[in-house]
Amino acid sequence: MVQDLRRYLQWEVEQGREVILKARAKPEPASAALPPPADVGAKSPRTLQEIRKELGDCQRCKLAKGRTKIVFGVGNPKAELVFVGEGPGAEEDAQGLPFVGAAGQLLTKMIEAMGLRREQVYICNVVKCRPPGNRDPEPDEIEACEPFLKAQLASIRPKAIVALGRFAVQTLLRDKTPITRQRGRWREFDGIQLMPTFHPAYLLRNPSEKRHAWSDLQQVMKFLQQGAPP
Ligand code: URA
Repeated sequence: MVQDLRRYLQWEVEQGREVILKARAKPEPASAALPPPADVGAKSPRTLQEIRKELGDCQRCKLAKGRTKIVFGVGNPKAELVFVGEGPGAEEDAQGLPFVGAAGQLLTKMIEAMGLRREQVYICNVVKCRPPGNRDPEPDEIEACEPFLKAQLASIRPKAIVALGRFAVQTLLRDKTPITRQRGRWREFDGIQLMPTFHPAYLLRNPSEKRHAWSDLQQVMKFLQQGAPP
């Protein structure tokens, strides 16, 4: 508990924010032309490398035209914890890596505050190509990319998934309830425990909500450490 508080304070201090301790005392209660990947739902999932190979130089949706690099995902293929974001931004598109821009820096701090390193977890997005001007991904784009996200999760089979923001939550849970009402409550995706929480980009715009995200992550830490059913 003390260690958790220290990590949280570190996270807040690094952000240059005031810590609102009283908040801790009161926790808030596809394209038609191409077939989907062959292994979706198959009994023995393929490796991440095989899934990446199948994605190839993807042209399955209109995001292909504007992208620089496909942002497939990064991290430990045997991770106990997977973070799923929305889609690449400018920096991610340039580097081909997820969460390396401003929101990514905050995500890294969140991961480290959990006592983990980025290399220990796996990080990916709902859509693998940058939507132009960072607009929201559109339903046909999500539909085209979703089989690959599901194949990644089936390959890794983590103990827990943290769904960052409404697109990750809505895509994986098929639930359009606002994220403000979904966050902090354990759900299940394909037999894997899933914790919905705020997207780091939202937290950058609304720093006072960080305490809620931290309480969600603490639930995840507890589950990973104790293995107790959430
Ligand atoms: N936001 C996301 O959802 N994903 C990234 O990779 C970067 C920013």
